[in-house]
Amino acid sequence: MTPKDGNGFVRCVYGHRHWGLNGAAGLLLTDPERGVLLQRRAWWVHHGRTWALPGGAVEAGETPREAATREAREEAAVPLDAVRTLSASLVDHGNWRYTTVLAAVTGPVGERVANAESAELRWVPPDEVAGFRLHSDFASAWPGLRSQLGRELVLIVDGANVVGSRPDGWWRDRLAAAARLRDKLAALSRQDTALTGVAGPEWSWWPRVRLVVEGQARGLDPVPGVEVIAAPADGDATIVATAQSALTARPDDHVLVVTADRELRTRVETLGAMTLGPATLLATLDALT
Ligand SMILES: [Zn+2]
Repeated sequence: MTPKDGNGFVRCVYGHRHWGLNGAAGLLLTDPERGVLLQRRAWWVHHGRTWALPGGAVEAGETPREAATREAREEAAVPLDAVRTLSASLVDHGNWRYTTVLAAVTGPVGERVANAESAELRWVPPDEVAGFRLHSDFASAWPGLRSQLGRELVLIVDGANVVGSRPDGWWRDRLAAAARLRDKLAALSRQDTALTGVAGPEWSWWPRVRLVVEGQARGLDPVPGVEVIAAPADGDATIVATAQSALTARPDDHVLVVTADRELRTRVETLGAMTLGPATLLATLDALT
């Protein structure tokens, strides 16, 4: 067992008493077939006997995503390799924060009550969640969480436009410049609190990244976390087609196209995609370690 250095109560700036010296985090796991995984807490824990999510205190040095997935493994035997984290919703009480990490099932979960903090686990259809005796904080968060349940952020990057937005010598080797951008984008799927602003300021996303390249950058290889799409001719047409197919395949997903090209922005916004300027994306990527 690891030492539980996050265990303890905090009095937040609003005067509430919360569990978790470094804040707390929980995993909201969705399975399209079965619903969401709820946990009934043991009678002796804080807010015992109520239903909520597997989760608990964040330990020192741990990210909320790591804490949520660790707690789900410890309490409910949910294996890390059977889930994909999609987004996170933050409740910020100043000196105490709770992060709900939304994830989708990607393989067999085999959940079971795995430690004494958990009394029962159940897959519950989203329509039935509000009928359970819920932990009061989870009950108030549920409508907002439900609005983003299972939804992903698809980030479509106009490679030539983003690379060309910063005069860093990219014209000397366009393939190498595209590779630098690709490698920075790969970090988005590894880091916590990546790319905020979609669905509201409390939400952050681990996007599916599609980097559209053209011309000399067309030989670019994909890396884990970044799909590379080589445009046969006109990059704009490929970006529009990529946005269209994402919106058709999964209409509930958020599709965000990164480009400064005004005509292209209008075209994809007409389809229902959102747009983001290269400077905003690059500032986000620069802030990643
Ligand atoms: Zn509070």
